Amino acid sequence: MKKVVKFGGSSLASAEQFKKVGDIIHADKERCFVVPSAPGKRYADDTKVTDMLYACYELAEKGKDFKAALQAIRERYQEIIDGLALNLSLEGEFKVIEKSFKNKAGRDYAASRGEYLNGIIMANYLGYHFVDAAEVIVFHKNGEFDEKKTNKLMKEKLSSLENAVIPGFYGACEDKSVKTFSRGGSDITGSIVARAVKADVYENWTDVSGFLIADPRIIYKPESIETITYKELRELAYMGATVLHEDAIFPVRSEGIPINIRNTNAPEDEGTWIVESTCQKSKYVITGIAGKKGFCAVNIEKDHMNSEIGFGRKVLQAFEENGISFEHVPSGIDTMTVFVHQDEFMHKEQKVVSGIHRLADPDTIEIEADLALIAVVGRGMRATRGTAGRIFSALAHSNVNVKMIDQGSSELNIIIGVANADFETAIKAIYDIFVLCQL
Ligand code: ASP
Repeated sequence: MKKVVKFGGSSLASAEQFKKVGDIIHADKERCFVVPSAPGKRYADDTKVTDMLYACYELAEKGKDFKAALQAIRERYQEIIDGLALNLSLEGEFKVIEKSFKNKAGRDYAASRGEYLNGIIMANYLGYHFVDAAEVIVFHKNGEFDEKKTNKLMKEKLSSLENAVIPGFYGACEDKSVKTFSRGGSDITGSIVARAVKADVYENWTDVSGFLIADPRIIYKPESIETITYKELRELAYMGATVLHEDAIFPVRSEGIPINIRNTNAPEDEGTWIVESTCQKSKYVITGIAGKKGFCAVNIEKDHMNSEIGFGRKVLQAFEENGISFEHVPSGIDTMTVFVHQDEFMHKEQKVVSGIHRLADPDTIEIEADLALIAVVGRGMRATRGTAGRIFSALAHSNVNVKMIDQGSSELNIIIGVANADFETAIKAIYDIFVLCQL
């Protein structure tokens, strides 16, 4: 058995946390490939090293003095090295970083140093090989991740090593310039490594004991999810559930490698298993609820729209021409509504409206702002009657007006549109009816 283990920033924020991580790795010799994040927050209002690096580089880019900012970063690492009593100096590395900052090596290079340095410390602490992610993770010139080349290089490199530490979050383009994934991207690195070594499991260690059924900022102590499928997770992650980067499932998904979300501060907890398919029934009809605020609905009306072939395409073309992606398109006989992200749409709204008039010649167009979308997700919904009915009666009892309903053909999720102001109430009502009423 081979396990790839990724540790998030809060699991590596201090020497004390590093020791917990060391214990977890040593407790199981199958944990042979390790992907660390940069040191995260040690306490609530602490600053992540990644954010310190961005801020420091901004000074460098503007030609301002960044010595003190870099020194504060150096101290974060030194504190870990001292706390672990390692015989390691990062002085040479910091000299290179300082010089590269002066030479304006780029924001991505700057941010990547957080994981790079933490990787060096981790490899030294564990006695594992260090593999620089810039050598094995490749990006195309246009900034897109080069999956094929990466998989080949990563496989070649790791096949000869019994163990290795591969820093998360970054790789490099062919011209050697460093490029990062989007924030939280170490999750993706872990998944890439798991795929390349054909791991039996990808353990993703963080500071919560797995996925929760709903957002704990809205629901008091929500229950956690024991098993969730990739597909369910994709729906929830897309709608704002944040434990794992939304792109992290793709590399392992193609190989059927399960992801186990674990808690560094409670290693005895089983956490959440993310799997391709399962015969395990989830405890409740629904697996999870997630949602996002900040959508706009563009309502388009035209008499006899239903018989005009190509009307929908023309409307969507106006969005496409303005580079706006749409979320949902519920329609009626003479109406069609397009849901879009408000922040993306607001600066271009008049262009889109005139585009729709020009292309599709509708009777009226009305824009409704400040809407939220909520996804109720669950593989159990397919086999259960009355799920939609229960959701809508719960919402009605809580005085929430439903603006839109969309059930995907997979019957895996039901999407509900409500006013931003009703968002929290709606989530509470749905959680209550499916989870609390079942206890
Ligand atoms: N350190 C990076 C961030 O803060 C990447 C990661 O932690 O996955 O986003």
